[in-house]
Amino acid sequence: MSLLVVGSLALDTIETPFDRAEKTVGGSATFISIAASYFIRPVRLVGVVGGDFPKSELDYLQSREIDIEGLQIKSDGKTFHWHGRYHYDLNTRESIRTELNVFADFDPEIPVPFRKSKYVCLGNINPELQKEVYLQMEAPKLVVADTMNFWIEGKYDALIDVLKYINVLVINDSEARELSGEFNLFRAARKIQGFGPYVVVIKKGEHGALLFYESDIFFAPAYPLETIYDPTGAGDSFAGGFTGYLAKTDDLSYENMKRAVIYGSTIASFCVEKFSIDGIRSLTQFEIQDRFNEFKKFSDFQAIELEA
Ligand code: AMP
Repeated sequence: MSLLVVGSLALDTIETPFDRAEKTVGGSATFISIAASYFIRPVRLVGVVGGDFPKSELDYLQSREIDIEGLQIKSDGKTFHWHGRYHYDLNTRESIRTELNVFADFDPEIPVPFRKSKYVCLGNINPELQKEVYLQMEAPKLVVADTMNFWIEGKYDALIDVLKYINVLVINDSEARELSGEFNLFRAARKIQGFGPYVVVIKKGEHGALLFYESDIFFAPAYPLETIYDPTGAGDSFAGGFTGYLAKTDDLSYENMKRAVIYGSTIASFCVEKFSIDGIRSLTQFEIQDRFNEFKKFSDFQAIELEA
């Protein structure tokens, strides 16, 4: 099975209550493709970077068999830059600055062999670009997409338009409320399903994730971590692990999507333990499987009926 990932590649400035880092590697497509590469190879990556994006990081992506043939390198331009600030409640963050730079006039040209990819993960970018990508694909089996408040507020109509083509929308709780205009998450998910996606995954940070699959609902806890260092990329790592597992297994049943949610949550839990992409840079299959199994243990219990 083949997986195409399109989204941002970034140099981020991140502030948390514990640390601050300038020009760290980030971006939706970066996290998604690394996360997915633990399940399926090669991952086909399409995006754009400026001349300031470290060559060593491109080499690293290639070392994980991420195919960067579709990555445009604008050597005289600057890479997309996002400055985010987290407070003590690491579930909420402020976007201090978003500089599109080379993304401002990015024209996503999907290499011809990539257009046959059966699985597509459209990372968080301008929804108009997400649609342009979709229209170049030949017959994708599953299209997963992510978005964020920046686009809900700035490109609402384009986002509603592209949702018609999306099968799975992965979105966090505050964004689901903003997109749907509904405070209650169940109502929000139902409304978003009405826009197009038959599956909606609502991420609730350290409180887990909700999977709405047609009329079914599955709740997955988050892995209880003692140290959360930098939440940046958790949502994208989730999307990458989720889509990568589905592409590997090529099974879109409800039962398999539940497992995909847990694999996504597993990779996201590694991501937040370190800054930037460091938490997911070099995981082993054993570490991933072990944590996946622990997820089951944490929410497994024996039901005993009350005596009358
Ligand atoms: P996440 O924490 O998974 O929601 O995603 C974090 C990543 O999203 C960061 O590394 C940013 O570079 C990237 N990002 C932030 N804002 C935007 C935006 N408006 N468009 C595309 N990517 C963005």
